[in-house]
Amino acid sequence: MSAAAAAAARRILTRLTGVMASRLHAQAKLDQVVEIIGECLSSEVCSIYLLRDGMLELFATRGLNQSAVHVTRMGVGEGLVGAIAKKIETLNLAEAKAHPDFQYRPETGEEKFHSFAGVPIIHRERAVGVLCVQHVEPRRYEDVEIEALQTTAMVLSELIANAELIDEEDARALTPEQTGPQTLSGLTLVKGLGAGHAVYHQPRVEITQVMAEDTEAERQRVYRAFDKMREQIDALASQAEFGVGGEHEEVLETYKMFAYDEGWSRRINEAIDSGLTAEAAIERVQQHTRMRMREIDDPLLADRMHDLEDLSNRLLRIVAGQVGTAASQGLRRDTILIARNLGPAELLEYDKRRLKGVILEEGSLTAHVVIVARAMNVPVLGRVKNVRTTIREGDEILLDASAGQAIIRPLPQVAEAFHARFAKSREKQAAYASLRDVEPFTRCGTRIQVMMNAGLRDDMAMLAMTGADGVGLFRTEFQFLVSATLPQRERQTRLYRDVLDAAGDKPVIFRTVDIGGDKSVPYLASEIAAQDENPAMGWRALRLALEREGLMKVQARALLEAAAGRALHVMFPMVSEPWEFDAAKAVFDEQLAFLRRQKKLLPERIHFGAMLEVPALAEVLDLLLPKLSFLSIGTNDLTQFLFAADRANPKLAERYDWLSVAILRFLRRVVEASRGSGVEIGVCGEMGGRRLEALALLGIGYRRLSITPTAVGPIKEMVRKIDLAELSAAMAGWLADPATNLRRELAAWAEAREIEYD
Ligand code: PEP
Ligand code: MG
Repeated sequence: MSAAAAAAARRILTRLTGVMASRLHAQAKLDQVVEIIGECLSSEVCSIYLLRDGMLELFATRGLNQSAVHVTRMGVGEGLVGAIAKKIETLNLAEAKAHPDFQYRPETGEEKFHSFAGVPIIHRERAVGVLCVQHVEPRRYEDVEIEALQTTAMVLSELIANAELIDEEDARALTPEQTGPQTLSGLTLVKGLGAGHAVYHQPRVEITQVMAEDTEAERQRVYRAFDKMREQIDALASQAEFGVGGEHEEVLETYKMFAYDEGWSRRINEAIDSGLTAEAAIERVQQHTRMRMREIDDPLLADRMHDLEDLSNRLLRIVAGQVGTAASQGLRRDTILIARNLGPAELLEYDKRRLKGVILEEGSLTAHVVIVARAMNVPVLGRVKNVRTTIREGDEILLDASAGQAIIRPLPQVAEAFHARFAKSREKQAAYASLRDVEPFTRCGTRIQVMMNAGLRDDMAMLAMTGADGVGLFRTEFQFLVSATLPQRERQTRLYRDVLDAAGDKPVIFRTVDIGGDKSVPYLASEIAAQDENPAMGWRALRLALEREGLMKVQARALLEAAAGRALHVMFPMVSEPWEFDAAKAVFDEQLAFLRRQKKLLPERIHFGAMLEVPALAEVLDLLLPKLSFLSIGTNDLTQFLFAADRANPKLAERYDWLSVAILRFLRRVVEASRGSGVEIGVCGEMGGRRLEALALLGIGYRRLSITPTAVGPIKEMVRKIDLAELSAAMAGWLADPATNLRRELAAWAEAREIEYD
């Protein structure tokens, strides 16, 4: 940041204070504001657009043709100015014409200007105007200059409200788009259905005063608010709903790290020093963080930034004396919670019986809040655009998070159909629950092992609920993913012990850490990034663990100690050659010898297994199998390598079918090669949790599946309707003489036998 830009920002605020305190009428103040900004930022153009009759009207300008004032008007969403208002976001462009939303307005004479930066003027959560600057030379405005614009927009918002420059009705102006039925799409973060009414998580803090009268007093207010917020976070950490210990504790620790972050409080104090009130300073730093967040590509880092935003909102409410979120304000019984994003601690404050679903504007699969929501069994739809402009407090919402959709203000027929489907799905769930204690035997009497996949302490509750035969894949890296730092050995031991306690007599197969690929952790990210252009095929999983031997040793010790006196199942991911299995097992053997020397209680039995995810391993099964107790096929990775198709690339998501002859023949070869070896063989990828795919797997000889917990009931139900001899014969026929569409053949086969398959 250049000193000149910082000085300019300070100058703007000082001069704005003078203008705002003056007795000028509102239009004259606007005229002065554009002059001040233009001068201080050395911008040829500065303009203010305000909402009038649903259109953004040019109210004041320096640099554009004056004849365009009160003449140039554009719709919300139209051109760059309209886009800023519609999306409520900042734009900072070196070359405005290159932006897809750019529209040229000849009456303004703006053709000679290249660079463009604009910020929304926000009042009651809606954009009521836009403040922008333009420059002849292409340049990107500096951070501090954008901050100065944001501050000015806050000041303008206050001026606009006081001078009644915009019509309140106008600010609320509702288009048919905002009153009629709407379907919003998003990303499925936690599957499920929910129906209820919209409740905004944050009744917004209205910033009524931007300029401080007494800077020292503002500093004190923020200081006290920080203290209070830290107290609250510490209290939350000790009384988290899900008990002490575990992922939630780790999540809250990350949270705590931010609450005590000196950099954050320093930036707020700097904003106060520049003349803002405590509220405005917090808001401005938050706006800036938001803008940065949008620029960040790393989803994991972005999630951490969301935690910071969560805290910032909390701080703002404390300082403004508005302590409650919707959680503390008599929550309605059928709440569909709406938020830009939520912090995990914030979600934990809600009464989960009243929470029927969550819709987030942001969010990602690995966000902390999603982990918590899954544990609470609340469906979550994320990455939903235009939430604020579409959903109003109290709107009826039908949330189908599984399908990635939310229907707002549904028509009665639509609501009726949804509720019928909802009731059916509840009935189904109940029917699956009744299968809990039923063992999955096929019609011909073969016992199929239906295990579940897990990764968090809270997932273990599903073991009893579904009656799964055990945990066929415990993804230990989840603990690493939700931690801000590498989890220490004691932490790991505690988790593994709790998981084994929760499982009782049922086996749990712990997979050693599979970090890397799409599962990067911040504290190893730079190392991974430095090495890999193609992380899925790069330095990940066992490859990484064998080289970072300390990591593996610590985990081995933690697992061995946690399983003292009982059976331990350990599985290594991404084994590509048998020696890697040997090397990984040697780390465990060494730790075992150490514990033996220490006269520690050892596991009663240890079973070692490998994942088959790399196709090459299938060619050396004769060398590998004698070393193993079990082999588990990770079809998620295996199929991406078989088809050379990145599993995380949405463009390829539907291109290759699991029910393809190539995959099924490959998998059949593996199961046949293992026959007679005494090694248990199963599938633990997502494929096994889908009914048609599971049918195919059973048809080619698999007898053990480890699947997502919610699929256990449906798969058990299906197993009981199958005759394996008949199914195997059909599969053998299809694979020998492939039908053009195996999926269709299988579906018809299932339908003819009244087997539900989707
Ligand atoms: C797999 O690759 O199929 C698997 C089960 O592991 P993950 O999805 O964790 O990579
Ligand atoms: Mg895998």
